[in-house]
Amino acid sequence: MKKFVLSQEYEKKIETLLNEMTLEEKIGQMTQFGRCKEKEIQLIREGRIGSLLNVSGAEKINEFQRIAVEESRIGIPLLIGDDVIHGYKTIFPIPLAEACSWDPELVQSTAEVAAKEAITEGIRWIFAPMVDICRDPRWGRIAEGSGEDTYLGSRLAEARIIGFQSLDESKYPRTAACPKHFAAYGWAEGGRDYNTTDLSERVLRETILPPFKSAIEAGASTIMSAFNDLNGIPASGNYYLLTQILKKDWQFNGFVVSDWKSVEELIPHGFANDGKDAAEKGLKAGVDMDMHSGVYIENLKNIINENPELLKLINESVRRILRVKYWLGLFDNPYVDESMSKEVFLSNVHISKAREAARKSIVLLKNKDNILPLDKNIKRVTVIGPLADDKVNPLGCWACKGNPKTVVTVLDAIKSSLSLNTKITFVKGCEINKEIPNGVKEAIKASQNSDIIIAVLGESAAMSGENHNRAYLGLPKPQQDLIHAIKANTTTPIVTILMNGRPLVIPWLAENVEAIVEAWHLGIQSGNAICDVLFGNYNPSGKLPVTFPRAEGQIPIYYNHKNTGRPNFKKYIDIEETPLYPFGYGLSYNIYKYSNLKLSKKIIKPNESLKVWVDVTNTGNMPGEEIVQLYIRDLVSNYTRPIKELKGFTKVSFQPGETKTIQFTLTAKELSILDKNYNLAVEPGEFYVWVGPNSQEGLKQNFFIK
Ligand code: BGC
Repeated sequence: MKKFVLSQEYEKKIETLLNEMTLEEKIGQMTQFGRCKEKEIQLIREGRIGSLLNVSGAEKINEFQRIAVEESRIGIPLLIGDDVIHGYKTIFPIPLAEACSWDPELVQSTAEVAAKEAITEGIRWIFAPMVDICRDPRWGRIAEGSGEDTYLGSRLAEARIIGFQSLDESKYPRTAACPKHFAAYGWAEGGRDYNTTDLSERVLRETILPPFKSAIEAGASTIMSAFNDLNGIPASGNYYLLTQILKKDWQFNGFVVSDWKSVEELIPHGFANDGKDAAEKGLKAGVDMDMHSGVYIENLKNIINENPELLKLINESVRRILRVKYWLGLFDNPYVDESMSKEVFLSNVHISKAREAARKSIVLLKNKDNILPLDKNIKRVTVIGPLADDKVNPLGCWACKGNPKTVVTVLDAIKSSLSLNTKITFVKGCEINKEIPNGVKEAIKASQNSDIIIAVLGESAAMSGENHNRAYLGLPKPQQDLIHAIKANTTTPIVTILMNGRPLVIPWLAENVEAIVEAWHLGIQSGNAICDVLFGNYNPSGKLPVTFPRAEGQIPIYYNHKNTGRPNFKKYIDIEETPLYPFGYGLSYNIYKYSNLKLSKKIIKPNESLKVWVDVTNTGNMPGEEIVQLYIRDLVSNYTRPIKELKGFTKVSFQPGETKTIQFTLTAKELSILDKNYNLAVEPGEFYVWVGPNSQEGLKQNFFIK
């Protein structure tokens, strides 16, 4: 892990170049557009656009670069960005799904593949990872992040930054990552996208900012400011956030790009009068590049003419942008090698990585009487549900250049997993959100003459993602009607596969079907990965990075809440207060037994580390992997602490019957909290430590810091 810095030699080059640039050219570097038509081409020629997004195709991009480099006076190459969120053409699981792997190495490797494919088409800047912590599954963009927990989110943020930015330099040009959305965008009131966020400084610093800080420490070279109002000041006009915290306190050397028109949106926020005012406020806050709104290109020149003092801010922004362009090597070679493309896209290596990522993203939520894995010699299988043979929706939101033709459906994979001796009947039953005349009737009929029903249900890709929030989080009504009718009319066991972009509210399913496989939107290898789990070629290992509520009314519900002064009082009079499935939860075909929790010491000094050991035994008869989780609680503190906090995890593989001793080290970093000045500090006192399979179970010990 290395923070983004450039050598002095480059810093000198940047100063020389800055001295040669006109004010218009400087503003050009700070301007990005999300299209490139004739008007923009002319602006590139004039040196007045420095970056583009939403332009694709190696040939096209090379031509835009040629204009920038050869036809503009100053000849600075363009920076081309895109939303490569979970794969470019080889589409991986949505980030929330991939977070279920709790596997930084895996997450790094899929980011690497995404970057390799994006580079071949000239994309050198990736608007990911989204590192917003989110505790509200109504928010559609929960699909794009790593869930509710800051510790897990920070580890995966680092891994994704390294994946995007650290390809083998002898083979690939560099790419820049862009963690987003800085900050608190995932905290939108009511889960309504773009909505106001109002949170304490402590929550901001303790829960929201650490994944961004980890991303910066892992070398992120750019960052995207958010749409939302943060405690009364919109994030894209927020000096405290963008300049004080990010650039001064954290010493971030790269640049800040706004979100789509978020500087101009300072106007409807009621924070700026007009475009000129918005541009001035964006500049002063620390937004170095304006995404698509045009307020910088239209207004900054006048602003500087009226107030030449502000030129130093422009210089600073351009310096930051040029740093990234130099680091990427764009000045040495701005072009993409057009002959590269065909080899990497959807290569066998990438497809098998997609299958590996997909199966590691699956979470087994219920498996009554070990009905799974299914016997491959089963005689009659009925497959129902609108997502069983769907090639579009498993790609999920932000599917980039993904092509539905590359998707393996569950039905395809069931057919290829089973022999001709198995009778496979498929009846869709309903559409995702619409009834089919007689669909339910036919599905019931097919289900009655069957040994197992595999119901593939859930959300379309468009039901999550940007501005796709939901107030009801159950299965869409036609699917509920279908599965209820099947249950009422057959005794055949039901295995439900869920494809979705957020935690769903599914108490009925939890009660009434035999097995639930949470498959999310898994990308191109969905069907194969799901069948690997269904038929026992892969032992499920995923664990939830986010809590599943019993009802929407429990939201926000998350594992690391505070104790309150009345912890034993009922939280609701009309529902059990526990979640349906807690954070960290997920079943395997094995049972892992935890024993012998030991600590290196009972009392440690404030700067000392503590070692924690636990024995884990695979009591089952399949090889498998277990995600072993360590939580702590600081019992008494100057600032009230959560009842549990994740502070370590590791994924360990086991042979049948095997026992392994797992070691964790808790350092001062994990044991400290923010003091009154928001600096990390260890407070003396008693702590609990748990090691277990999820946030609700585990062996417990106490220790003291003195
Ligand atoms: C989204 C960003 C995205 C940008 C560019 C915005 O609407 O909030 O996450 O990177 O568009 O497509």
